[in-house]
Amino acid sequence: MISLYIHLPFCRKKCAYCDFASTSKTGDMDAYLRALDREINLYKEEVRDQEIRTIYLGGGTPSVLGQGRLVPLFEKIQESFNLTKDMEWTMEVNPESGKDLDFQALNQLGLNRVSMGIQSGQKNFLDLMGRIHSLEDVDACLEQLAKSSIEEINGDFIFGLPGQDLNHIKKDLDYIQSLALTHLSYYSFIPEEGTPLGEEVLSGLKKLPKDQEDRLMDHYIQDRLAELGYQQYELSNFTKKNPCRHNLAYWQVQDYLGLGLSAHSSYRDQRWANTTCLTSYMEDLALGKKPIAQRENLRKEDRLMEKIILFLRLNSGIPVKDLEKDYGIDFKKVFARAIEKNIQAQSLEEVEGTYRLTSYGQDVANQVELDFYRTF
Ligand code: SF4
Repeated sequence: MISLYIHLPFCRKKCAYCDFASTSKTGDMDAYLRALDREINLYKEEVRDQEIRTIYLGGGTPSVLGQGRLVPLFEKIQESFNLTKDMEWTMEVNPESGKDLDFQALNQLGLNRVSMGIQSGQKNFLDLMGRIHSLEDVDACLEQLAKSSIEEINGDFIFGLPGQDLNHIKKDLDYIQSLALTHLSYYSFIPEEGTPLGEEVLSGLKKLPKDQEDRLMDHYIQDRLAELGYQQYELSNFTKKNPCRHNLAYWQVQDYLGLGLSAHSSYRDQRWANTTCLTSYMEDLALGKKPIAQRENLRKEDRLMEKIILFLRLNSGIPVKDLEKDYGIDFKKVFARAIEKNIQAQSLEEVEGTYRLTSYGQDVANQVELDFYRTF
């Protein structure tokens, strides 16, 4: 069983904070889809005996392709891969282009989960981020979704933007309360080098909220979402119904195949990544070549470390017995220093045979990860 990720890198306009592999050259969409079709052909026989348990169409903005391009892509995926009956199939949408889609038609082709980039319920922050959608677009997109049988709807939100304080976050949570979302991904803003907003922050032109304010926001978000019935299952993810099975596959270090520009794959003891250059991606595939730019063989210790770091993100914690069985180690002995230090600091706790971050531990998760990492 594997998961499948497909990257669709087109966006109408690049957001001011975005460092994803995305492009506003929407004129290249058809050529890109032809290249993607070739890439699917290169892999479909190799994974024919593997059942696909989750699919995630990410980007970029998959919804910008429109119904006319999405339907053939969905059909191509259906005919090329061995999809499980209870498969989770997610697509990212921007409210501005999502509102024009016929979700019911896509649902009949397998789509059963939508992840919408909403980011904020306040126009001034949407403008600051360079988002092209309006709050009316969010309503219109949700209305379109309500006409379909798709029940799992995620909203992506960002907090900790320049100029934000706790009152702004309270407003966003009021906004979230008014929306019919079953799942929330709530990420802390990270100023990325080379992006307009990131550079303004890194050069000191715009100021981020102070650390203490940022932590207050984070805790407020967790408490308020719990009150609204969203259960946290990962540092930044909350659900009223089901967790995102595709992302869980990443966090639980299960095998996945990534297709499309810059897509990453992880299979058994190997990891590889496609090129991030759109021209190279299309040229390689025109020559019948896989567009892989980087490949890495993983040692057993690398996989173990990856699992520990990712399991720490989950509320279910590190499954000690499973790791001991899979890697033939005495977990408590090997990681004694990291465990003792963080239990003493009250950032880690032992619960029913697992090690989990405490509420304080979630604030300093990077430090806890580093302590485990330093063991090797
Ligand atoms: S919509 Fe998403 S992928 Fe596209 S530019 Fe904005 S943040 Fe980046």
